[in-house]
Amino acid sequence: MKKTIIILFGFSLILILGCKSKSPIAKSEIPKYFKIDHTLTSDQTHNKFSSTIEPVLRVKSGAVIEVFTEEASDQELNINSPKEAIGTMNADLIHPITGPVYVEGAEPGDVITVNLLEIEIGDWGWLAIFPGFGNLDQEFTEPYLRNFKLDDKNRTINFKDHINIELKPFPGVMGVAPPTDEMLSTIPPRANGGNMDNPFLVEGTLVHFPVFVDGALFSIGDCHAAQGLGEVCGTAIEAPMRIVYRITLEKGGRSIPEPEYENNDYYAVSAYGTTLIEASQKATKYMVDYLEKEFYLSREEAYLLCSIAGDLQIAEVVDLPHYLVSMHISKKVLGL
Ligand SMILES: [Zn+2]
Repeated sequence: MKKTIIILFGFSLILILGCKSKSPIAKSEIPKYFKIDHTLTSDQTHNKFSSTIEPVLRVKSGAVIEVFTEEASDQELNINSPKEAIGTMNADLIHPITGPVYVEGAEPGDVITVNLLEIEIGDWGWLAIFPGFGNLDQEFTEPYLRNFKLDDKNRTINFKDHINIELKPFPGVMGVAPPTDEMLSTIPPRANGGNMDNPFLVEGTLVHFPVFVDGALFSIGDCHAAQGLGEVCGTAIEAPMRIVYRITLEKGGRSIPEPEYENNDYYAVSAYGTTLIEASQKATKYMVDYLEKEFYLSREEAYLLCSIAGDLQIAEVVDLPHYLVSMHISKKVLGL
């Protein structure tokens, strides 16, 4: 009898510990069927981040929203634009983002999760060099522009001769309102997300955002049809798109300082910084925090684990004054 009790006790302890070692955040799964609750058109946009921008929609947690997004120039460019159009572009129009969406019940300290259910590429895109912008801005001082006809079904473009690029569309900008009534530029990413230009944030990803103001005020746009890590020339294939996402409010969980994201294969934290070193140090610290809190590791153990299984990734080096670095860790390593 005593033995049975001990075995049972041991078994339930394993069960409890087993549950504790799991992240409370759900795995990313795209449901086969979902019903669209709301639609936002590509003219329901703004292009600054501020707590004072009025929401265009109020939703309940769990709502599925279909949004149409304009490309980054907000129609200043079109598929026939010549490279001279780059020189005369109105920079004030950059980054029209669709929203903001007010999530009922969201309060500072909560987390909202955006599940990217569907991303459909529009029929054209552009890729440019802007003088004075980009990782090699000292060398490339002349405007340059390439336009592409895009096809969502085909999802490849011919770059030149035998060089073909597979399209992996994602929103360059996703963010909640920052805790300020200032009208902040959408160019640099910040703790509220924004212009993260992170090519990992493709269809199927769950993106977690810290909430800074009531309702969260989430917006999305500046979609990229193809972009490498770093976005070195300063632009990606900038294209209008249609996105369907589910937005969910999470209360009472771990609060996060900056956006984090995951799919079936990995969990990731991200951090902005005024240097790549600062951004990488913050990302490492956020991953140590995550592992310590969610997996009951000591800080030293978490730090060691980051060193042998965490992968730092440079999302972008061009959205100055902020660089964005993330750290990924395999869910297999974590037993998830
Ligand atoms: Zn962009």
